[in-house]
Amino acid sequence: MEKFENFSHRHYLTLDQKERKEGDQMTCYGCTNKIWSDFYGCTHCKHYICKSCFGLPPEMLHPFHKEHPLTLLAESPYKEASASPYCHACRVKCEGFIFHCSECKFDLDVNCATLLMPTTNNNKASEQQTHPHALIPCYTKYKQIEFLCCVSKQSINGTIYVCLSCRAIVDESCSQLPQQITHHIHPRRTLTLTNYGVKYFKSCKACGVSKNRFCYTCSGCSECFGRFKFHLDVRCASLIPKNQLQEEVVVQAPASFTHPHGLIPCDSKGFFNFSCSAC
Ligand SMILES: [Zn+2]
Ligand SMILES: [Zn+2]
Ligand SMILES: [Zn+2]
Ligand SMILES: [Zn+2]
Ligand SMILES: [Zn+2]
Ligand SMILES: [Zn+2]
Ligand SMILES: [Zn+2]
Ligand SMILES: [Zn+2]
Repeated sequence: MEKFENFSHRHYLTLDQKERKEGDQMTCYGCTNKIWSDFYGCTHCKHYICKSCFGLPPEMLHPFHKEHPLTLLAESPYKEASASPYCHACRVKCEGFIFHCSECKFDLDVNCATLLMPTTNNNKASEQQTHPHALIPCYTKYKQIEFLCCVSKQSINGTIYVCLSCRAIVDESCSQLPQQITHHIHPRRTLTLTNYGVKYFKSCKACGVSKNRFCYTCSGCSECFGRFKFHLDVRCASLIPKNQLQEEVVVQAPASFTHPHGLIPCDSKGFFNFSCSAC
């Protein structure tokens, strides 16, 4: 059997070309994605590298960091455990390979390193964009990589927008979110779209489920008992009470309802997908 070498592992790797079914995939050490077909592996150590990560260049110039070339590393370059590398594009902790600039301590994970800027001139950001910083419209040639919007947590199908100031990836609709809103759930004050740091995931007041570093927040009122205590994720903020949509809508809950508190019937007009928090 033919043997291969990879910088990320001290043993030889062999090529496996079996198609993989759901539940039978390996996870790639480099990009942390599931492997569906060809990979190079050391079965003894369970060290698997997908075909595209196997072919990664040891150094690359990337449009997100034009100053210096980035070096491909198999492990974190930082000594202290607290200084784990966080991707400068999506701000997710780099768990696999890292493209790293030692001079600037700039890091990109493999998935974000595949993001390219269109070379055509018609890549001007849409007029409707409300994001306070410059967004870089991007695409990837790798259809198997799933990019999640940092704001709505939804998988991105169209153009991927990167904000290097927020270190965030957003989709088209989240690039057009209003920076300030008033909302019926918290009608007293204007709510402001806020980007919390990577350690400060806030839980949503409406669904309680979603923890997000981007959310609408109240700058402090007597109801909130202090500053920045009220958080609403963008999905729940998109909910409009049905009685505001249509005057004649019956807002009374059906008699079979067992929820102990007042429920507000809402509609997001198809903007986001919602799942029931009971089931
Ligand atoms: Zn990979
Ligand atoms: Zn090994
Ligand atoms: Zn990233
Ligand atoms: Zn640099
Ligand atoms: Zn989004
Ligand atoms: Zn930004
Ligand atoms: Zn919510
Ligand atoms: Zn408040």
